[in-house]
Amino acid sequence: MMAQYLEIKRDHQDCLLFYRMGDFYELFFEDAKLASQTLGIVLTKRGKHLGEDIPMCGVPIERSDDYLHKLIASGHRVAVCEQTEDPAEARKRGNKSVVKRGVIRLVTPGTLTEERLLEPGRANLLVALVRQRDQDEKSLFGLAAVDISTGAFDVYVTEFGALGALLARLEPREIVASETLLADAALLGRLQDGGAAITPLNEKAFFGRAAEKKLLDYYHLGTLDGLGPLSHLEINAAGLCLAYIEQTQFAAKPRLNRPSRVETRATLEIDAATRVNLELTRSQSGQRQGSLLSALDRTVTSAGARTLAEWLAAPLRDIEKIALRQDAIAFFVDDPLLRAELRKILRAAPDMARALGRLALDRGGPRDLAALRDGMFTAKQCGAVLAEKKPPFLLAKAVEFLADLDTALPQLLGAALADDLPLDRRGGNFISAAFDQQLDEARALRDESRRIIAALQGRYCEKAETRQLKIKHNNFLGYFIEVNQAQGEKLLKAPFNADFIHRQTMADAMRFSTTELSQLESRITNAADEALAIESRIFGELVAQALDKSAELEATASALAGLDVLTALAEAASEAGWSRPRVDNSLAFQIEAGRHPVVEAALRARGEPFVPNDCDLSGIMGAKGKDIGGKLAVITGPNMAGKSTFLRQNALIAILAQIGSFVPAKTAHIGVVDRLFSRVGASDDLARGRSTFMVEMVETAAILNQATEKSLVILDEIGRGTATYDGLSIAWAVMEHLHEVNRARALFATHFHELTHLRQKLSRLVNLCMRVSDWRGDVVFLHEVAQGSADRSYGVQVASLAGLPTTVVERARKILAELELNDLRTPVERLVADLPLFAAPLQAPEPKHKDALRDALAEIDPDDMTPRQALEALFNLKRVA
Ligand code: ADP
Repeated sequence: MMAQYLEIKRDHQDCLLFYRMGDFYELFFEDAKLASQTLGIVLTKRGKHLGEDIPMCGVPIERSDDYLHKLIASGHRVAVCEQTEDPAEARKRGNKSVVKRGVIRLVTPGTLTEERLLEPGRANLLVALVRQRDQDEKSLFGLAAVDISTGAFDVYVTEFGALGALLARLEPREIVASETLLADAALLGRLQDGGAAITPLNEKAFFGRAAEKKLLDYYHLGTLDGLGPLSHLEINAAGLCLAYIEQTQFAAKPRLNRPSRVETRATLEIDAATRVNLELTRSQSGQRQGSLLSALDRTVTSAGARTLAEWLAAPLRDIEKIALRQDAIAFFVDDPLLRAELRKILRAAPDMARALGRLALDRGGPRDLAALRDGMFTAKQCGAVLAEKKPPFLLAKAVEFLADLDTALPQLLGAALADDLPLDRRGGNFISAAFDQQLDEARALRDESRRIIAALQGRYCEKAETRQLKIKHNNFLGYFIEVNQAQGEKLLKAPFNADFIHRQTMADAMRFSTTELSQLESRITNAADEALAIESRIFGELVAQALDKSAELEATASALAGLDVLTALAEAASEAGWSRPRVDNSLAFQIEAGRHPVVEAALRARGEPFVPNDCDLSGIMGAKGKDIGGKLAVITGPNMAGKSTFLRQNALIAILAQIGSFVPAKTAHIGVVDRLFSRVGASDDLARGRSTFMVEMVETAAILNQATEKSLVILDEIGRGTATYDGLSIAWAVMEHLHEVNRARALFATHFHELTHLRQKLSRLVNLCMRVSDWRGDVVFLHEVAQGSADRSYGVQVASLAGLPTTVVERARKILAELELNDLRTPVERLVADLPLFAAPLQAPEPKHKDALRDALAEIDPDDMTPRQALEALFNLKRVA
């Protein structure tokens, strides 16, 4: 056996080998050590190899899913090795012969199908990546993304620059690529960013003609035309993906949709850093809680949750598609009763796509068939409810499709399946009575014989002249008669031994059999075996019928998921009073009373109000009536005043608008954004040896190199990671570039008040500030965005609020006063005037009243005033100003 084990293990060095022995998967040698550590199970030993003990541990079959889950989650791959023949066959070959075994499947993060191994609300993507270099060494990438749990199969073509954004959007669990490709350190780094498992493949054999053949074979096609126009890169990527699926699934063949090309240009591109910064699907700490997705998600099915996550990961650019979704959501917002009714029906909808996926791989059970049945009925019900209203286009299409659905399959399944279904099909008992006559007969025979056996006990008691005789059953002996020791001695002798045949002697009992009992037992076994065989045949037939309809089932599943998402978005919009944004192809960006959905929800939970704010970055019309670029807003204000919240809320509103959702604002008008960039907050990327400043500059470079007129850019405190003048200079130059070259709509939060002077030079720049009121030297944050620039930074006050020792705060106040006396403005103003980019120098005139105001202020001693005097002083100041 060890020889067999070692031979199999040799072919699967990179996996833990689950070696089937009876009711256990056993692991040996290093595998056993690793598994026992990861799983916290006992490490034992068994036999010797080369004179050493063999370490071993085992996991019971029925709990193997849980163990697999843990192993996969901690980054291992598992090869599942089963017995491929009946042990009886092996025994026939000779006493010492070993049961044949073979690996039937590799379990890897990207190839999971079991319910218990999958996250219900998240796609489980496997990505295959290939590269093509053209003459000038520019690389193009082909990428195939497959979810074998649902059959989704998409292909993409992208450049290196956009690869990170695409991977961040897809969030694959596993990436396969050739060894050569993975030898490229820069590329490998990018692939590793998302935390997917990376699997090297020796790909030579799967490219070109071989890849084409893989696709043709998989879909039983004669020519690739059947798949629509696919480029070489797409074919290679798809072929590599199929090759890996074959390597991991062996004979089992997952049901996959035909690969369809996805244009990345059709969606709002959001790079990886921005997704993290904006906490779209996960918060900064990595949890779903606290993300936009979790604040938005009101779906009631796991397929709906997956679809919502996909929509959010890939907002649209096509205003017509956006409008279709908006229409559907508006329809449900306007009809809360209908919405509630549909959501109630949907709540009962099972995960059809994944059930179908398992059935296709022959890993499904009776409950998966039931899921198809229930899903179809739910869909019919939804269609009927909707048909009574006059739904808009998208929904009307769904109604049409659902009305045409053939109910033969769900009816058949309804008739075939029993009420209480076991998880596993191997034990039988899932086909309902009266569905199949042969099955009923076999079951009747089995059950009748069981009843006869139960009745036998009374007769044997009489025969053995005792009342302490029991008929029992175990796997080793089958049915047997058990009596205590004294009675047993009696039965060994005449006349009893004519009927009772001794089988076993235990410490305090003896076991017997009779010819009659053995005969009955074999009748039961035969009948039970026959019943099982019939059920298994029926199961196979039902699965075949379901797979025949897989395209329709898949479409039904996605219709249900879409319905769930649209009603859920309507629910979210109604709950929080969101409005339908106007989305068009202009350069508009006008938001009235916008809110940050996540911060607002957090504040609401604490009973605090969120202050809504307007934002206008709309493009200014140029001389010829053409948009010449969006506005660039510079936002100043102290820490904690709400700058980041404001920046993010506007980006989130744009994203929500482009997934077709309503938005948290009184009104919103948004010209479709092509790419969203952000540089928000800074954290050291120490793992990759990059400082905060370096990360910041890399991200800023990407923005300046790529942002277009149609982009939206959000920058929080550029240049903070370095010395003041360095930082200021960089921030200054970045803004000029954004304004003059990129012309994107942009929001720029900064501590450098000097930057507000750029207003004099840059026509589309507006200064905004966070309003703060100052009460007796303490700051009060109003969280209101106002026109103009903040006059002070309030850093010292915030420090004092945070509990810095009074002595330090006082000392800081003095230093600040000293510094403010020095004329720090001079170099900045000179710079404004000197800019080579702009011809006409413009001197900012100091307001005349400035000194009078200063004098009046100097006369006030707040510590020595009554409230009434304070009020008078305030009026006085107003007059001077
Ligand atoms: P900054 O970026 O200026 O340091 P933040 O945007 O991080 O400030 O906001 C700090 C805190 O202020 C937030 O955590 C939130 O609790 C509160 N806040 C921000 N904006 C608002 C708002 N519009 N209404 C109410 N509270 C807000």
